[in-house]
Amino acid sequence: MNTRSHVTLLVGGVGGAKLAVGLASILPPEALTIIVNTGDDLDHLGLHVSPDMDTVMYTLSGLANPTTGWGITGDTRRALEMITRYGGPGWFGLGDSDLGTNIFRTALLREGKRLTDVARQMSSALGIRHTILPMSDDSVRTVLDTDQGRLAFQEYFVRERWQPQVHAVHFEGAAEAQPSAEVLQAIDEASLIVFGPSNPVLSIDPILALPGLRERIRASSAPCVAVSPIIGGQAVKGPAAKLMAELGIDVSPVGVATHYIDLLYGIILDDVDMHLCDVVSRMNLHCIARRTLMDSLVDKIALSEHLLKWAEEVFS
Ligand code: GDP
Repeated sequence: MNTRSHVTLLVGGVGGAKLAVGLASILPPEALTIIVNTGDDLDHLGLHVSPDMDTVMYTLSGLANPTTGWGITGDTRRALEMITRYGGPGWFGLGDSDLGTNIFRTALLREGKRLTDVARQMSSALGIRHTILPMSDDSVRTVLDTDQGRLAFQEYFVRERWQPQVHAVHFEGAAEAQPSAEVLQAIDEASLIVFGPSNPVLSIDPILALPGLRERIRASSAPCVAVSPIIGGQAVKGPAAKLMAELGIDVSPVGVATHYIDLLYGIILDDVDMHLCDVVSRMNLHCIARRTLMDSLVDKIALSEHLLKWAEEVFS
């Protein structure tokens, strides 16, 4: 099998989007589909906000703020300042241009369009030629049981700056939601399925919680591999390490591999964790160590090349 013929990448926001850019720089549009978590979506100020979708869309179109990894570079906050003056919620940082994205998305959804079609229309308007798919057109909402009670995802992540201790994570609506036909097709037709270096619990698990999705990945003839978001016992950014520890998951690529064990054929971990390849191999998984920190475009492309080459060598 030519593992490069159709790569299906599952991602959240910032970490996953970096790998998406690398793969999109190498693979033609018909050879890459990106499936994005929508468990972080929220209804805010009357708008349907889809943070991970937008991070992927802004990153692939070159609009993303390189400092934060999310939002639009050079964006201003005049609308948010005004909302705050009225006593409205200022904690969720939507810039003015970002608000434009969310106003337009909400308008299209109100016309009755599916989130999948809205994503296609908006990403192609930004010049993106690869396919970005929301995991579902139905509502799934990540909620967390914490020492401060039950919190909606963005309350935990943005408002409380992921400081509460988490006991459990739930994906409300997941059992009734359906993966879209496009998502199922992307899995069925994949030659390689990749879990991006995204938060396993908050970004990849909501996608895997959709009915039938795990079975579909298992039934696919494509091998499934992961890129570790944990490097040297730490997350590059965000709550992954803290959250994994709180949920009793080993904060290492071994913990990541164990988390996905029923689906995985192999994992790429960072050079600094090279010694863990032995442990991973004993789990009957393929393993390679490479530089997985993607600071620059060169890093993103290099890691993507390593990933594709390794998959070709091991699984073809
Ligand atoms: P979020 O929804 O914006 O948090 O997006 P993701 O779940 O896709 O990304 C967060 C994860 O990306 C964190 O666990 C980080 O450790 C990981 N991450 C961010 N940048 C990099 C990177 O350059 N390399 C690797 N290996 N992981 C990264």
